[in-house]
Amino acid sequence: MILLLADLSEEPREFSGEEPAEMYEWVDSPMEVVHPSGAVKWRCLASMFGGRVLVRGHFDAPFAGICCRCGCDMEICISDSFDIAADTLRNDTEVDLTSELRECILLSLPSHPVCDPDCRGVCPHCGKRLADGPCGCGNDFGMLFSGMPADFPEGGADE
Ligand SMILES: [Zn+2]
Ligand SMILES: [Zn+2]
Repeated sequence: MILLLADLSEEPREFSGEEPAEMYEWVDSPMEVVHPSGAVKWRCLASMFGGRVLVRGHFDAPFAGICCRCGCDMEICISDSFDIAADTLRNDTEVDLTSELRECILLSLPSHPVCDPDCRGVCPHCGKRLADGPCGCGNDFGMLFSGMPADFPEGGADE
């Protein structure tokens, strides 16, 4: 994300662009369950006050990998807003905010990404993905509550 200082003034102006996945300088490690899978799209309003560039915008960053809950292959899009401020030097003609944008994206990346916020994970006994339907091993979660009295009052503070 490079902005030309000649394009910037105290009046905020709209910019947009794309950065290739290489912007992350991503190093695959066994600790990572997801990796960048495509270009980052961004749009922002940028202005400059006395040599300081202020940028407020939004990014969409695609990632691919494995759901931490159910283990399926997945693609997710991390979308978030960002605020960046950077100082420029007297002879600068542009400001490169790529590394700042990268930090914003990585901060927005969940530490345990899942395919869906409602992902039901897998059966702890047989490992079947519960989104595909109940497993046949008879250890479904409902049995955990089977010891509760049938007439257990719901919210019952009516008296
Ligand atoms: Zn999942
Ligand atoms: Zn099971």
